[in-house]
Amino acid sequence: MAKAKTEEKLEFQAEVAKVLDLVIHSLYSNKEIFLRELISNASDACDKLRYLSLTESNLIDPGTELGITLSVNEKAKSLTISDNGIGMNHDELIENLGTIARSGTTAFLESLSGDEKKDADLIGQFGVGFYSCFSVAKKVEVITKRAGEDQAWLWASEGAGSFTIVEAERDTQGSTVTVYFDKDNKEYLEEARIRNIVKTYSDHISLPINLATTTEKEGKEEASIDQLNSGSAIWTRGKSDITEEQYKEFYHHVGHVFDDPWLTLHNRVEGKIEYTNLLYVPSSPPFDLMNPERKHKVKLYVKRVFITDDCEDLMPGYLRFVRGIVDSEDLPLNVSREMLQHNVLVGHIKKALVKRIFSELKKKATKKPEEYANFWNNFGAVLKEGLYEDHDNRDTLLELTRFNSTLNDDLLSLEDYVGRMNNGQEEIFYITGDDAQTLKTSPQIEGFKSKGVEVLLLTDPVDEFWLSMVGQFNEKPFKSVTSGDIDLGAIKRSDDAEEEKEKPEAADDADIAKLLIAFKEELGEAVKDVRASDRLTDSAVCLVAGEGDMDLHLARMLKQQGHMDVPSSARVLEINSTHALIKKLSGLTDDLTKKEDLQNMAHLLLDQARIIEGEAVADPAAFSKRLNTALAKGLV
Ligand code: ADP
Ligand code: MG
Repeated sequence: MAKAKTEEKLEFQAEVAKVLDLVIHSLYSNKEIFLRELISNASDACDKLRYLSLTESNLIDPGTELGITLSVNEKAKSLTISDNGIGMNHDELIENLGTIARSGTTAFLESLSGDEKKDADLIGQFGVGFYSCFSVAKKVEVITKRAGEDQAWLWASEGAGSFTIVEAERDTQGSTVTVYFDKDNKEYLEEARIRNIVKTYSDHISLPINLATTTEKEGKEEASIDQLNSGSAIWTRGKSDITEEQYKEFYHHVGHVFDDPWLTLHNRVEGKIEYTNLLYVPSSPPFDLMNPERKHKVKLYVKRVFITDDCEDLMPGYLRFVRGIVDSEDLPLNVSREMLQHNVLVGHIKKALVKRIFSELKKKATKKPEEYANFWNNFGAVLKEGLYEDHDNRDTLLELTRFNSTLNDDLLSLEDYVGRMNNGQEEIFYITGDDAQTLKTSPQIEGFKSKGVEVLLLTDPVDEFWLSMVGQFNEKPFKSVTSGDIDLGAIKRSDDAEEEKEKPEAADDADIAKLLIAFKEELGEAVKDVRASDRLTDSAVCLVAGEGDMDLHLARMLKQQGHMDVPSSARVLEINSTHALIKKLSGLTDDLTKKEDLQNMAHLLLDQARIIEGEAVADPAAFSKRLNTALAKGLV
């Protein structure tokens, strides 16, 4: 991008402009968070510089103390937040403060309801980062110089539509943000108000946050500096010295999220390896949870110095909802990215952290099952990824899983399931699909329902993958109810099964046998087999997978995802010999004049079974024609 000596005028990106408009026109409450956001950015900037300077010592003058200074200008009605962190160059400035929507902004926009009042409240919850300062400002200026570069830049905007950039002067690296308050927001010039906001929201920041003031004494201006925060990294303090509010504020700062933590894990580990962890499990799913990157969000510190938020081996991908920090005493301060890869020490820490998280989850699951159900609804689908990628922890993870089932409205564990299996039942039955309600009415589970055999309803895409890897729980194999080889006859009815319905009499065995042969002949390659079913009670037909074939839902899902190489194995069509229609058809096999009708019905029933599965019929035109023929015959 060309760097201009003259002022450049640039437009905000559309998304940013939308947020700014809301911030300026609708945010009435909770405006004070603008200061939290600016201090948080200043603190991040100092952390980044401190880390870079470990390897590039020329970025920072020796002896420099990194910190944040606030000062008030009564005359100009402005508050300045100044840091000596990493700073920004020309292009970074344009990118970061105007043309690219940051994480917070995107999340905020995604959750907009369209109702201005509600949306304005949301800003407070999400914090829209830098832009929140326009809720109190008529103008904002940023003078910034990137560490290691010579040229400083002045960014300025009144919030509406555009911003300007021009060359500027600045002594050291870092950024100075000046907020010019509009007439309704002069309260933020008051020292007491500022002190109070910093104490409330930013006390956990480990850098000093100073207030610079000048007072007149006997005609002379006297400058003084006063530190507003306690300035020690929050995780170095004892648990009893930290309030819940302070934990929460740190969570917001470190996680760039704005809900309440569902679980807070603060531990100091001493012994062979020494580290402190302050980890959080959020109470609501972050917007980027299902990003294919699967990056975890735990930051690594070494002896209080921020090292990286990108240490891949610190936390498994299936725990990417966890936020927070780990501070190691053993790693060297000048640890490089390469050194961190496959580092034994990092490996040990990861193992211990995972174990700790599991044990806390287990505790919640037993002691507070309702709270655990919330957690499970938010993050269960992510945790289950561990079932296929973390072999060592598979058993523990299986204990943590929860399921919906045909017999239960509450979530149940596998232990619950196995504990109440019917006599003669050797397998854990499940059905997979897109939503539990549809699954509950699947024809394949009719027979299970009428016998009181519980079936797990699995609706996360990840289920297909772990099921094929895991195989069993407590020696009980998992079995899809849509697989062909299930012998329901061997399983006893449970005591609390539905009242046994008066079972309609089945058609004559010999007639059914003839019907099966006729259907098989007519359908040919389109089916693997046609069989009488013992799993149907109400429906006339259903499809099941042939022995050894891929589960129906899995095959469909892989196809939808564009896996063309999924074998399109023909399925088995099962028919219900107690169903009125089937009984009627089975009586027609010897009547030569009905041959064509039977052939027609074979195709119609196969298409019907496909439709129930949520699949498309093979040939819609032929299907309509056959249906019309059958209907016409019925009426005439
Ligand atoms: P976030 O902090 O969530 O990334 P913000 O809107 O608060 O989003 O800030 C946008 C970006 O602007 C930051 O990611 C950072 O790159 C840059 N930035 C903001 N303030 C500063 C600062 N004081 N020093 C250096 N960079 C900054
Ligand atoms: Mg920020």
